[in-house]
This record gives sequence, C-alpha cells and structure tokens, in this order.
Amino acid sequence: MESIPKEMKALVLTAPGKFEVQTVPVHAPGPFEVLCRIGAVAICGSDPEIVRGGLPGYWPPAYPFIPGHEWAGQVVALGESSEHFLKIGDRVAGEAWKGCGHCASCIAGHYNRCLNYGKLETGIRHYGFQFRGAYAQYNIYSVKAVHRMQDQVSFREGSLVDTAGVGMHGMELTGITAGGTAVIIGPGPIGILAMRIAKLLGAARTIVVGRPPRLDLAGKLGADILVDIQKQDAVEGVRAANGGMGVDEVFECSGAEGTLNQAIRMVREGGRIGLLGVPHEKVMEKIPFKYICRNEIAVFGSKANPNVSDKVLALIASGQLVVKDLISHVFPLEEFGKALDTFVNRKDGAMKVVIEPNGRDGGGLFLS
Ligand SMILES: [Zn+2]
Ligand SMILES: [Zn+2]
Repeated sequence: MESIPKEMKALVLTAPGKFEVQTVPVHAPGPFEVLCRIGAVAICGSDPEIVRGGLPGYWPPAYPFIPGHEWAGQVVALGESSEHFLKIGDRVAGEAWKGCGHCASCIAGHYNRCLNYGKLETGIRHYGFQFRGAYAQYNIYSVKAVHRMQDQVSFREGSLVDTAGVGMHGMELTGITAGGTAVIIGPGPIGILAMRIAKLLGAARTIVVGRPPRLDLAGKLGADILVDIQKQDAVEGVRAANGGMGVDEVFECSGAEGTLNQAIRMVREGGRIGLLGVPHEKVMEKIPFKYICRNEIAVFGSKANPNVSDKVLALIASGQLVVKDLISHVFPLEEFGKALDTFVNRKDGAMKVVIEPNGRDGGGLFLS
C-alpha cells in the first residue's frame, strides 16, 4: 500500500475572486468514504461563478474553500466499511452530488433534489460547491459519489463524465424519438456531448443552433445540420432544415434568454423540450401559453446528472461516446489562473480545460 502524504497542494479560494495554491492537510476518510488521488479535473461553467463569489454563503459556503467537481482519479485509502464497495487502486470518476440518503427525494433516487441541501449534518455533500472539492491532489468522497472506471478510460476522459451525464439525464427525462430529429441549442461542451448522446439514443439527425466558432466545431464533431443565429432566425432555420415541420425534441444547453421561447416554436405537436443549460436567475422567459396547450408541448427542467455516470462510462469505454476531443487544454494545478482565463475567455478555441493536480500521469496509471 502506498504511503499517503499528510499534506498536499490545493487550489484555495481565500475571498471573492481571490485564490492561490496552498499546502493544506490531507483528510482521512470517514465511514463509507474513500480518499482519492485526483488524476484530472475539468473546469465547469459553474466554477468561474464560484471563484467570483457571486453567491456569498452559498457557493462557497465560507472561506477558505477548495472548489472543483468534474474529476477522475484513484482510490488510495478506505474509510470504515468502504471495503464493501471499493478497493484501493480502483480508478474512479466522481459525481458532485451525494444526497442525505434519508429524505423523500433521496429515497426515490432523486438525490439531485435532496430536501436537505446545505445541511451538511444530514450527510448531504455537494463536492466543490458546498463541500471541499477536487482542485487538489487528494480529496475524500462518499462511496456513493464515485464510479469505477474501465481500464481503457483515461482520467482525462473520466473528468468529462459529469458534463456528458448532464446530457444523458436530460434525455432520460424527455426521451428521444428513435429515427427522429433532435435540436441542440448552444454548442458548448454540454451541447456537443448532448448532441452525441441524442444520436446514441436513437435520433437520426441532430440540428445544432448557435454561432461560430463553436457552431463550426459542432459541425466538425458530428452535427448533421448547423443553424447560425448570426445569419438566420433560429426557429425559421430549424423548421426550414426539417422540411418546414417542427422537430421531435429540443435540448436547450445555453441558458440564454429567449431560447425557451424559441424551443417551444421549434418542436412539433407533442414535442418535448429539455432544459439542460443553467440560466441566470434574472432570466424570465416570455412563453406562448396557449400555443403550448394547443400543441401539447412538454417542457422538462433538468438538474445535474443523477444515476447516469455508470451508463456514460460504459459508453465511453465501448468507444460509442467520444469525449476526449472536447478537451482543448490541460494545465497543472499551479497554473489554475491561466487555465481559468483560457476557459472563461475561450482562448485558443477553448472548450473543456482540464487540470492535472498530480502531473501528467495523474500520479498513477494513465492511458491517454
Ligand atoms: Zn459541472
Ligand atoms: Zn436527501
């Protein structure tokens, strides 16, 4: 068994908008927890908001705080009773959520809607948001929040399971019409992975709506039809591409104002809409109430990625779901500031920007 260091490097938020790499203690795993060495952690669209400190007392709950939640790594120590679930050396992909396990939502399997959010004493963990996260060399996790990875899945690929899972969960809510046409609004990382998952689940065609350069990238990465909103109206463009008809499903992956209204007018009678993007609190959409009723259009709000990580990992391992071509940049932990700037300002066509807190090989087995 390898020796676990007492201290590690971690990216620590010290005040709103302020962060530095510090040496901090490595914590011991408690019952039903494991200590993981972090191989790779991807920057999420929510991370800049957490770093900025725009939600004081909530994300993060207090300072100092270690963020980061889209990660993969290796189990290096077991807490009490964890041996029934995992073993040392297991390579795992993380999940940001672990519900309290006892409330009505958790009992029904909807731990992403745990009724005890924010009450750590009930057992809930939202790693990297309300509890210590993965921008560090090590972190402790509940056995519920890690998923064993197949040997052929790299840590870098594992760090994209969270993002792909957002697409998978949204599609489990809405369903996908086999042989149908699905629209993706917003060609960011969630949108592009959602586009690929829609195909895997049976969509015959995908139409991606957005603007260059990300729209062009969506074309290179597998979109069947592109609708450039700088050149045409989004709804007219989609309907024209679909023979004048509405499409089967629309997945909103941008959170931008006006897109829910567009999605409603893009779908066919009985069409379904999944809202995967995270809008700003202030976005208040004007929607055609009567049109929704008359056309029996269903709208599904979708939150995070519960119960899908193992499915996503199996699809990555089988080669059916490619995720690694979305990783545009990789940085060591010491260069977090540069990594965040690259991600936020989309420098050099940045899509997913990954941090490797333990170096190139993730401190263990690495298959690129
Ligand atoms: Zn995320
Ligand atoms: Zn709960």
